[in-house]
Amino acid sequence: MPAIAPTLPTDTLSPPLPDDEVLLSLGLGADSVYVAWRLLSDPVGHGLREDLSNLTVVTSMTGDEWSDTIDLSRRFLLPLLAEKGVRYVQVARGGRWDADGYVVLSDTRNPVDIEPTGPWTLSDELRASGTLPMYSGGKHVCSIKYKGWVIDNWAADHMAPGYRHIIGYDADETGRARKDSGFTTNGRRPWYPLIAWQMSRPEILAGLRRAFGVDWPKSYCVECPFPSVAASREAHLERARRLPSEAAMAVCLEWTAHALNPLTTLYAGGTSLAELLAEDGNQAALAAAEEQLASVLWTVVRVRRVLPAKRSRWCVDRHGPRCEKCVRTPGSVRCPACRELKRQQCPPAERSALCSDPERKGRVWRSVESIGLPRSRAAAAAMLRRAAGRRGLEVEEAAGVERVWLSRREEGFPTTEQFFVAVPNVVEDKAMPGFHSRWTAQVARRTGRAATDPRPAAAAAGRRESADRPDTTDTAAWRQPALV
Ligand SMILES: [Zn+2]
Ligand SMILES: [Zn+2]
Repeated sequence: MPAIAPTLPTDTLSPPLPDDEVLLSLGLGADSVYVAWRLLSDPVGHGLREDLSNLTVVTSMTGDEWSDTIDLSRRFLLPLLAEKGVRYVQVARGGRWDADGYVVLSDTRNPVDIEPTGPWTLSDELRASGTLPMYSGGKHVCSIKYKGWVIDNWAADHMAPGYRHIIGYDADETGRARKDSGFTTNGRRPWYPLIAWQMSRPEILAGLRRAFGVDWPKSYCVECPFPSVAASREAHLERARRLPSEAAMAVCLEWTAHALNPLTTLYAGGTSLAELLAEDGNQAALAAAEEQLASVLWTVVRVRRVLPAKRSRWCVDRHGPRCEKCVRTPGSVRCPACRELKRQQCPPAERSALCSDPERKGRVWRSVESIGLPRSRAAAAAMLRRAAGRRGLEVEEAAGVERVWLSRREEGFPTTEQFFVAVPNVVEDKAMPGFHSRWTAQVARRTGRAATDPRPAAAAAGRRESADRPDTTDTAAWRQPALV
């Protein structure tokens, strides 16, 4: 058994008092389900009221949870909550923007069903942007946005300050708990019972097996980038074999994101879900993905990226805002306090070639514009080849994706890339604000002359094509000057 981390605040390990309001964040996975089961089995022993009237259980639905987790919760957890009359609240993001708030999908002491999908899911967001959840730095960005944020906002409206907030971090997750204990918004006071009980995953799973007679699976989204790591990979692939059409959804997301960025794979280190499934012989999932891709309309898009150089260490040391102390010795190395100040760019007057590091990539700027109207997958592929032929360009086929390159990345940074590719017509046209001026400047650098036409291809084409004459403006859009 792991020792209790001495650095956790002691009150995060002590149970609530019967006068406390208690909120349990239930992720539907083994950890929090085990906590729920144990609290419900012995409320008084865990500082709750006998009738559980001071306990609220809340789940935020990402919309992309594996269905086996949902099914087990339906079968075993809901009857338990209903029998004990525990208030169970199901919430989700209300829409794409934070301003859309959250929606309550269900709020009852007699829950009869799980509502796994809200009006805007994580995969909705990924489809629209043509990207995948980020795994950089091990940060659970999507989990914060689709779970933590939703529950915090619901709690702010419904829980009195000082409430105890139960999170099911297990005894091996004290690092995450320590971080979480710092968030005290709305007077939230966390309680980490699994750490207090010194329960690690094997004991939790064994406990659930005793309670319900099943192996409780991990809760995570189908398109989660984390389960490729060795320990959970087997369970992940086994799940994909049982639920091929769900795995196929993630394959489609990966396919599109990869088409838009050849360096993208669902998992870190260039490991792709499609490859893992192929190695695993999961033809059912791959065939289902092909079917899903074939069932939607496609479009040809023009993808452009500006890949700037990262700000150099030298620049970080010298430029940017300065604190009271450092401002008196200009040109000196800034102190650590300066680096905490806002607006961390170098002042234009002090900017020099030394400010950027050509070896390291800075924040990437992307533009995606569709050319022409949506059409079938085959018709989009034909359009891509035809237009490439007219321009005398080659169609490159790589990892099952056909691209027509207008310019490729150079060695080092800054650099640019530009290509045409056919993708499912779910990706929204979008250029980040500030993209066009950066693109124009980079084209000027690459060509050694003033930039030609920074406008989006559709605007340059003059008009959108009409449905009855599908091919006319294709050529106009492609008559763009071949930028580099
Ligand atoms: Zn600088
Ligand atoms: Zn300073």
